[in-house]
Amino acid sequence: MPRVLINCAKCDRKLYTGLALENWFIFEWVDIQGATTVCRACGTENTWNKSDPFVEVDGGSG
Ligand SMILES: [Zn+2]
Repeated sequence: MPRVLINCAKCDRKLYTGLALENWFIFEWVDIQGATTVCRACGTENTWNKSDPFVEVDGGSG
């Protein structure tokens, strides 16, 4: 299943937002509220909104 990712503002790693593409309704909420995802690598709390995430296509590896 495609996963929804953002880039960490500090270390530029890909962060999994915890959302899959099927959770699309969440994005309507994000547009209003904003959302946060903590980077496991550097500990930065990244605030993101509807325009930030990108979808990682599952290529069958990893
Ligand atoms: Zn980071």
